[in-house]
Amino acid sequence: MEGVDKWYGAFHALKNINLTVRKGEKIVLCGPSGSGKSTLIRCINALEKIERGTIMVEGTKLDDSGKSIDAVRREVGMVFQNFNLFPHMTILENCSLAPMRVRGTKKADAEAIARKYLERVRILDQADKFPAQLSGGQQQRVAIARALCMEPKAMLFDEPTSALDPEMVKEVLDTMIGLAKDGMTMICVTHEMGFARQVADRVIFMASGEIIEEAPPETFFRNPTHPRTQAFLGEIL
Ligand code: ATP
Ligand code: MG
Repeated sequence: MEGVDKWYGAFHALKNINLTVRKGEKIVLCGPSGSGKSTLIRCINALEKIERGTIMVEGTKLDDSGKSIDAVRREVGMVFQNFNLFPHMTILENCSLAPMRVRGTKKADAEAIARKYLERVRILDQADKFPAQLSGGQQQRVAIARALCMEPKAMLFDEPTSALDPEMVKEVLDTMIGLAKDGMTMICVTHEMGFARQVADRVIFMASGEIIEEAPPETFFRNPTHPRTQAFLGEIL
């Protein structure tokens, strides 16, 4: 992202965002409510439009064309706070839909891919159920598997554990840690600081639509330099 600004009407939501994420890098994005974290990652796969600056993903520059948006969304998976599974489809159907629709994969092949990733998030035994029949943690693991079925180059996570009951947080974080170990490029909005310490290459702190501070987790937690970062960490740690 280079010089990215975004407004919601008169509200300046992202201010001159400059961010380069290298292949295989893991970024944790944190900051107070309303600071623009969701907006930032939603801009990366064109769920939000930007008014100024450029966003490049894997050599594709995002513009208003459906072509560039499709190209980026094919390569970038996203996992939301509230899972966003299709309620009227089985787990297997949830996972095989996008490869069939977007990549033109044949049904049998798409289902094989779906089974592979459901196995990987250890939930293959639930493949024929509907989302409402699963726990929150299970649904979120399905959402991760569904994103992986597109074999994305990078994954965006927007507070994937914050809607979960405490006992289900670990299973989702463990899935994300596994993905990180396999080398996935990841940008995770999360306040799970244990996860940040374990997985992040860089922690980025946002406030009021700006990137205020970024550092490797050891430095970020031990030696935050900006008063707003210090205040934020004081509240959450
Ligand atoms: P949270 O931690 O609560 O999820 P966040 O850092 O993800 O917060 P954003 O959701 O990116 O924050 O919102 C940033 C700011 O933009 C907020 O002030 C919010 O009210 C505003 N905003 C977000 N979406 C819209 C929208 N669709 N229309 C108008 N304002 C919006
Ligand atoms: Mg948010």
